Amino acid sequence: MEIATGIHRIGSNKVNVYLIDEPGGITIVDAGLPGYWSDLQAELTAMGRSLDDVRAVLLTHAHDDHIGFAERIRSERGTPIDLHEADAALARGEAKQKNEGGGPIKPLPILAFLVYAIRKGYLRTKRIAEVSTFGDGATLDVPGTPRVIHVPGHTAGSAALLVPSRDAILVGDAFVTLNVMNGSTGPRSFPNFNADNRQARESLRRLDGVEASLVLPGHGQPWTGGLAEALTLVRATPV
Ligand SMILES: [Zn+2]
Ligand SMILES: [Zn+2]
Repeated sequence: MEIATGIHRIGSNKVNVYLIDEPGGITIVDAGLPGYWSDLQAELTAMGRSLDDVRAVLLTHAHDDHIGFAERIRSERGTPIDLHEADAALARGEAKQKNEGGGPIKPLPILAFLVYAIRKGYLRTKRIAEVSTFGDGATLDVPGTPRVIHVPGHTAGSAALLVPSRDAILVGDAFVTLNVMNGSTGPRSFPNFNADNRQARESLRRLDGVEASLVLPGHGQPWTGGLAEALTLVRATPV
């Protein structure tokens, strides 16, 4: 579905994948769950596009629920998979996910998330054989020309991607608008899967002063109230 001019989302708001649609092609941000592969093709068809129009897949970080079809599109189509250098080993399966964790949990939302994720192939998730990497401050030469803002903490290589032409920022899990571990909604921290909670909180400062009306998280609905207001709400979450 088109959630804003030139930005589409596939899957459900439990796990978000975004397509940035520009005349020169499409940039995909995050690769969701393996079963999103068919959702991707259906969305591209609805857009009058195909996999041939996909120029790159950018990953906000290398957690399992963000890399779902990455290896498939890379190996079958040669599409480059690009992420922050500090998450490259995690993406390739050479490093283990760190998890400080914390934050409230509720059994029913966790169950609903697990059922959804497994139905979408979560247990079949493949690591990515080859990735390319970007660093903080880079402006990427792909449709939408996103600018990288390194926001470590959720993972060491978590990155927010600012797309000025769309007045939008894609923040991955630096913060979310749905905590899938307890069902709470609205801009909030996501400590449950943070590698380092203190660092995640400190990294929010890297987003202060960045202008974007539309905030697109890894989990939850788009936030249209602007990045500054979102950050105020995130800082008010307990952990
Ligand atoms: Zn994550
Ligand atoms: Zn996530």
